[in-house]
Amino acid sequence: MIFENTRAFAQQLDSQDPLHKYRNEFYFPEVNNKKVIYFTGNSLGLQPKRTKAYIDEIMNDWANLAVEGHFYAKKPWWDYQERFAEPLSKIVGAKPSEVTVMNTLTVNLHLLMVSFYRPTKTRFKIICEEKAFPSDQYMLQSQIRFHGFNPDEAIVEIKRREGEHNIRTEDVIAKIDEVGEELALVLIGGVNYYTGQVFDMKAITAAGKAVGAYVGWDLAHAAGNVKLELHDWDVDFAAWCSYKYMNSGPGNASGCFVHEKHHNNPDLPRFAGWWGHNKERRFKMEPDFDPVQGADGWQISNLPVLSLAPYLASVEMFAEIGMEALIEKRDKITAYLEFILHEIDKEVDSNFEIITPSNPAERASQLSVFLHGEGRSLFDYLMKNGVITDWREPNVIRLAPVPLYCSFEDMYHFGQILKKGILEK
Ligand SMILES: *Cc1c(COP(=O)(O)O)cnc(C)c1O
Repeated sequence: MIFENTRAFAQQLDSQDPLHKYRNEFYFPEVNNKKVIYFTGNSLGLQPKRTKAYIDEIMNDWANLAVEGHFYAKKPWWDYQERFAEPLSKIVGAKPSEVTVMNTLTVNLHLLMVSFYRPTKTRFKIICEEKAFPSDQYMLQSQIRFHGFNPDEAIVEIKRREGEHNIRTEDVIAKIDEVGEELALVLIGGVNYYTGQVFDMKAITAAGKAVGAYVGWDLAHAAGNVKLELHDWDVDFAAWCSYKYMNSGPGNASGCFVHEKHHNNPDLPRFAGWWGHNKERRFKMEPDFDPVQGADGWQISNLPVLSLAPYLASVEMFAEIGMEALIEKRDKITAYLEFILHEIDKEVDSNFEIITPSNPAERASQLSVFLHGEGRSLFDYLMKNGVITDWREPNVIRLAPVPLYCSFEDMYHFGQILKKGILEK
């Protein structure tokens, strides 16, 4: 499609966009009495207007039923998480029994590593990406130390090649083959939080399995953003947060995937709690743990229903739309943003560089822009003028044109603000 850098053209794209109506389903912060251009849905998604009703329902049931709400609430609390199985499994490409919601992301990765990182003297290494999200780095280091190994020896980072911004799939696979029989686990962020690069999860998972390692994915930036086929790719486990692309609210509950083939494996250790115990007999208060079949068997505590409620609102909205429609718009609006950036660059010779892959198959809903020169002052200018983006050292702004609520006109408008900011510097 030939794009144009005009308001009329952007408005025309909006008028043809079947998802445009969802913009009205969200609350936008305002700057100078105008809705902001919100580029940080990869950090904290906007609040859907329908969310409050889901929370109110729990509050009302709690007021009216108190403890009876566990069984007699409109959506009973004791198995509230089962409402996620069907819609969430479609979002991540799993069977309903393979997903559950609980805790928060880093906590879930720790818990899943209890099952899937069991190092031996000969097989103890973990492959991850260079400059992984800090929480993941701390998690891996602490897990390795917990098992009595040295992180400097056990962690193998895949590096970018000199002068390149992204990691090559072939380099990940070569490293997996090289580490071979020493490799216990591959654990990588499916979409890199800094560059927006989408890894070839299918190929990397296959390579890890081929050398006998477990393969898990941190899908913080992938859930609700990219097409996932966790079951078919034969991924062992995965976890994601729900407050980024999935708009469930600050610090909210995490989702987990455990492949079906592990559901019946009694040798797989796990940290247990009563909510993972056989559902029919949970309240018999028996002494021996008998896990629920499926990802629910990794549950520990009774459910934080007040925080699951906004997540359920979001998952149902995603189910209504479908990932295909979302991804179709995602690719179009990201390409339009890329076009606008190039146009402004031509007009004002701003000397910035998009470090996210230009190949649509290797990126999703994020363009990271390296601002050479006075990046920070330009960032401040954008924020003051109603463009909410974020700053990452040394000189990068991340722009996520989230397809659920960003408009093509936003992209045009952003270009004009950016241009003015550069010219005023
Ligand atoms: C956002 C993010 C996290 C955050 O973890 P929490 O436990 O939810 O605080 C972890 N990993 C990655 C890759 C992220 O992008």
